[in-house]
Amino acid sequence: MSVPRTYHLVTLGCPKNDVDSEHLERILTGGELVPVLQPEEADAIIVNTCGFIEQSQAQSMAAVQALGANKREGQTLIVAGCMTQLYGGQVRSDVPAVDHVFGVGQWQDVAKLLSVDVDAVFDIPDRTAKVTGPSAYLKISDGCDAPCTFCVIPKIKGGLRSAPAGMLVKEAQRLVAAGAKELVLVAQDTTAYGEDLGLPVASGLPGLLRMLSGAVGPEVWLRLMYAYPSRVTAELIEAMAGTPNVLHYLDVPLQHGSEGVLQRMKRPHNIDKVHRFVAELRAAMPGIVLRTSFIAGFPGETEAEFEELLAFAREIRFDHAGCFTYSLQQWTGAFEMAGQVPDETKHERRGRFMQQQQRLAAKQAKRFVGRTLPMLVEGAGEDEDGGPVVAGRTYREAPEVDGLVFARGAANPGERVLVRIEEAADYDLFGTVLAGRHEGRRATSRKQ
Ligand code: SF4
Repeated sequence: MSVPRTYHLVTLGCPKNDVDSEHLERILTGGELVPVLQPEEADAIIVNTCGFIEQSQAQSMAAVQALGANKREGQTLIVAGCMTQLYGGQVRSDVPAVDHVFGVGQWQDVAKLLSVDVDAVFDIPDRTAKVTGPSAYLKISDGCDAPCTFCVIPKIKGGLRSAPAGMLVKEAQRLVAAGAKELVLVAQDTTAYGEDLGLPVASGLPGLLRMLSGAVGPEVWLRLMYAYPSRVTAELIEAMAGTPNVLHYLDVPLQHGSEGVLQRMKRPHNIDKVHRFVAELRAAMPGIVLRTSFIAGFPGETEAEFEELLAFAREIRFDHAGCFTYSLQQWTGAFEMAGQVPDETKHERRGRFMQQQQRLAAKQAKRFVGRTLPMLVEGAGEDEDGGPVVAGRTYREAPEVDGLVFARGAANPGERVLVRIEEAADYDLFGTVLAGRHEGRRATSRKQ
């Protein structure tokens, strides 16, 4: 392989993969490699794959196959990440055009293969900071120690490894200096932060939130994704409510609403406790927005258990809720469980869940009408009459997974403005930009 000068990076999967890809890009660009938009222009094509569920594996494989089929002479095709950690041999045999295969966390090895002097790159100061929108992901840990029987992540990623707080503070400051106005904290389980470092629960994630808040200042929003239900503790709720720039938004993947199914999933299965912490969150932060995700069709799921899930979701009234169909996964506890649910039933149940959720989300969205909220502008354009319109997100919408706010008025992407909400659809909100840029502290809402 001649020394590559350009690369094209394809990232599949979740925001945690985006963070890994950004890390790789910092090393590559620090080593003077140039990113190109079109794969055919690149000396090296790198695919960061996803192996979370069958569907994501299939998407990753399809992307690799397409790139392999169009690979030109002299190009190098590198495949890395979660899917190859599990199925590296299969990728090699199914796509002979693949030149190199790496597992997870081998980004320095990828860079070395592309002739980057990795040690020299790590000496380069922060000139390679890259923030593409007003938000940036901050990955606070990797891996997971939980025993969930549907999940292959611990097999792919290994056990919990938290990043040292000092390093996260530096990274957060670097992202803010590069233009980020919102830091979205991600991990397999953000609430486990620090357990492997021996930190007590009270000073794990709660301590980190306070530290980051102090380090980046009150103007920068901090958003929390991927909380584990039994770790939504009084200390965490207090830290969220009492730290000025932590958004009143929480993503807690609950996976199911039936205690029987949760037990088989080896998940926290005390539904009363979930109701209790939701009540505590709502008491401490009125107006808090809750997101969750569920799995339909886990092995053995009966119609009655699925009905329990529907009832549970109606009782809690999540602002945002996703639902996956259960995906059979080798190397997991559920792989050989009896009572696998037919695909047709899984899809029918997921469809029923999403229909119900659409109605619930629409009701929840209506409570925002009449409020004035700070909004981060992500895009600007014109309406059909040529008037200025912007699209963005308030504390209610996390990047990539929730809806958007569309508002009449002018502003630039990256700015934070005040928006009066006038209408709500199922997932999106509509309103008008109020004059003036907003750089206020608390990012919750107030009634007009
Ligand atoms: S906590 Fe999340 S990442 Fe960890 S095993 Fe369970 S589902 Fe997988």
